[in-house]
Amino acid sequence: MALEYQAINLGQGFPDFNPDPALLNLVSDAMAQGLNQYPAMAGVTPLREIISQKIFTLYQHQYDADTEITITSGATQAIMASVLACVGTGDEVIVLEPCYDCYVPAITLAGATPIRVAMLAPTLTKRVYSVDWTLVTAAITKKTKLIIVNFPHNPTGAVITDADLDELENIVNQHDLLILSDEVYEHIIFDGGTHKSLATRPDLAAKTFVISSFGKTTHTTGWKVGYCCAPKQMTTELRKVHQFMVFTVPSPFQHALATYTTDPNTYLNLSDFYQEKRDYLSLGLQTTRFKVLPSPGTFFLLADYSEISNQSEADFAIWLTQTHGVTVIPVSAFYQSSDAPTSNHRLVRFCFAKQGATLDLAIERLAKV
Ligand code: PMP
Repeated sequence: MALEYQAINLGQGFPDFNPDPALLNLVSDAMAQGLNQYPAMAGVTPLREIISQKIFTLYQHQYDADTEITITSGATQAIMASVLACVGTGDEVIVLEPCYDCYVPAITLAGATPIRVAMLAPTLTKRVYSVDWTLVTAAITKKTKLIIVNFPHNPTGAVITDADLDELENIVNQHDLLILSDEVYEHIIFDGGTHKSLATRPDLAAKTFVISSFGKTTHTTGWKVGYCCAPKQMTTELRKVHQFMVFTVPSPFQHALATYTTDPNTYLNLSDFYQEKRDYLSLGLQTTRFKVLPSPGTFFLLADYSEISNQSEADFAIWLTQTHGVTVIPVSAFYQSSDAPTSNHRLVRFCFAKQGATLDLAIERLAKV
C-alpha cells in the first residue's frame, strides 16, 4: 500500500540508507580474491570465530566456533531450522503475543501447536509492554517443548530484565523444555542500558538457541546473514535441518562480515546511532497528536493515536497511508486475532531506521493529521 499511495514508509523494518562503504569494499575484495564457491556448511571459520569471541566478551559465555555456532540465511532461517529441529507433531510451543510473524508458521509447519500468551499491554504507569511470567508458567504442559522469546522486542521495543531472566531460569530448571531466544536487536539498546542475552546465564545457555542477525547490526537486511548459537547437541540437530534448507550462506558476505566485525565499534556504536534517530522522531511526533511510548530498544517505537481516531489499528494504518501518505504498522497485526479488542490498544509501530530527510517528511505529514 505504501508503494501504491506513494506514502513515506515507516512500516517495514529496514534502513533506507546504505551500509558502511568499508563493508561494501570488503565484499568486493572477497569476490576478487576468489571466495566465490561453496563455503563450509556451518559457515566460514573466521566468521564463526569472531562471533564466538564477541559473545564471550559481551556475555561471558564460550560457544565453540566449530560445534556450537551456525551461520544461517538471516535470523528467519535460523528460527525455522531451530523449530523444525526440536519440535514435531503433538508438541506445544509457547510464543508471547504480540509476536514477530515468522514464529507461528515455523511451529505449524513442524506439526506442533502454538500456544499464545499475551504480554501485558502498556498502562499509564507502566508504559512499555511486559511479560507476566505467571501466565507463561500456567501455559506450560507436558507437551511444551519450546518457548520462543524475543528481546529487544519487535514490535514493542521492550527489553529483557534481570527479573525476566530469573523467571526463565526457574522455568528451565523446573520443566524439560528448550528456549529459542531471538536477539536480532541485541546491539540496539538505549539510554545507557545493555542487552541481557540468555547466553549470560549458564542454565539458560544450556537450553537455548540464541539467534541474531547481521542484517540489523550492519544495515544489510538484504544480505540475509544471521546465526544461531546453541550447545553442541542442539546444534547437531539444527544443522541436520540447515544442511537441506540452504546448505550454506553466500561466501563473500560471510568473509566481509568476519573482517568487519573484528572492530567492536561496528556494533558497539549502533545504539548511539539509533538513539539519535529515536529521539529525532519522538521529538517530531510531539508536534503531532500521536503520543509516543518509551522505546528502550530496537529501531521501532510505538505511538498512541487515541486522540486522533477510534478506528481499529488496522483501519487506522490503512487510513493513514491513504489519507496522509505515511505508512505505519498496526500492532494488532502481531496478534492471532488482529480484530479482537484485546489485540487493539490504539497503538501503531513506527520504524525510525530512516534518513533524517525521510523522518522530516513523515513528521511534516503527520503534523497535519
Ligand atoms: N526476528 C525479528 C524480531 C525481526 O524483527 C526480524 C526482521 N524483521 C527477524 C527476526 C528476521 O531477521 P533476518 O532478516 O535476519 O531474517
